[in-house]
Amino acid sequence: MKIAVLPGDGIGKEVTAQAVKVLLAALPGKPQLTEAPIGRAGVDAAGVPLPPATLALARRSDAILFGAVGGPGDESGPRDKRPGLGLLQLRREMALFANFRPAFLFPELLAASSLKPELVEGLDLVILRELNGDIYYGEPRGIAVNAAGVREGVNTMRYTEPEIERIAHVAFRTARERRRKVCSVDKANVLETMQLWRETVARIGRQYPDVALTHLFVDAASMQLLRAPKQFDVMVMGNMFGDILSDAAAMLTGSIGMLPSGSIGENRFGLYEPVHGSAPDIAGKDLANPLAAILSAAMMLRMSFGDRDAAERIERAVRKALAQGLRTADMMQPGKRQVGCAAMGDAVAAALA
Ligand code: NAD
Repeated sequence: MKIAVLPGDGIGKEVTAQAVKVLLAALPGKPQLTEAPIGRAGVDAAGVPLPPATLALARRSDAILFGAVGGPGDESGPRDKRPGLGLLQLRREMALFANFRPAFLFPELLAASSLKPELVEGLDLVILRELNGDIYYGEPRGIAVNAAGVREGVNTMRYTEPEIERIAHVAFRTARERRRKVCSVDKANVLETMQLWRETVARIGRQYPDVALTHLFVDAASMQLLRAPKQFDVMVMGNMFGDILSDAAAMLTGSIGMLPSGSIGENRFGLYEPVHGSAPDIAGKDLANPLAAILSAAMMLRMSFGDRDAAERIERAVRKALAQGLRTADMMQPGKRQVGCAAMGDAVAAALA
């Protein structure tokens, strides 16, 4: 079990340390963990957000446990030094095109959800985000003075048919293991790229007659996600819409600090990371919620190593810690005991015993 540990920046370091603690408690002696810098830490160590040594380590590993990258002021620096580029490059280099973001509500956090309990009780959906295409990678891009002499910013939304086909297959196969429903999210009424998306998903869907397929425009989908989220099973969408809707889904689960994710390609190699960012506002204060990172480690055991038993033990341990009334500040409720990031990691590790 060779695992590259890439904590990154800000609370990425804090939450990854807790995920490592829990991983080692769940499988003593089994994981071989090697740490390397990425993001701003990569720029500081080697001058680029994805240092060649970090990429080489990723290539030698079976899976990556990732924290978060970025910090204040990053948007204004040169593009090739921006911490976020390290993650985008890594996903692309390792051909990790399918990003699973399961939004599952632990019953203990029912009251912490941003929606009324009856709307979210039993919530269990997966946002499947395409990760290698779309406006994040499309060319041309940049900021330049145009023919009229004014500065203009350009980005390009781009998807090829094979890219849409492969993520659609993943969506239908995933639905077959769940409640057999796929909702494809697009903006086909306005964007040609999304028209191709809808046509392609519908065509692939005909190969899976046992799975019910629906389509929603992204604006309607975000509204439905906040109005009646339990109607969804697998929601499949492009890179940008997935980025946005999964943060909204996180709030339904009680906190942005609760949503794990796993990204895979054509084989079992995967990158596992909490959905949240580096949270500079709370970094270094032991305030971060480490549960999304810990649950990402559980996803890694299930998806990359096929160890369902260990994954479930970690998920049960998280539930035990919540049932003991422990809460980090982001999901604090009356009558519960507030703990820091490290103490929450300790509690989950202890609950594994
Ligand atoms: P963010 O997710 O870092 O923070 C949003 C809010 O949620 C903040 O108030 C933060 O304190 C809170 N929060 C986030 N994670 C939390 C946790 N585990 N526990 C408790 N509270 C938590 O998003 P942002 O503020 O938009 O971005 C901050 C930096 O992170 C930026 O540099 C951004 O580019 C980067 N970012 C990185 C990733 C990634 O590495 N995958 C993802 C999103 C944003």
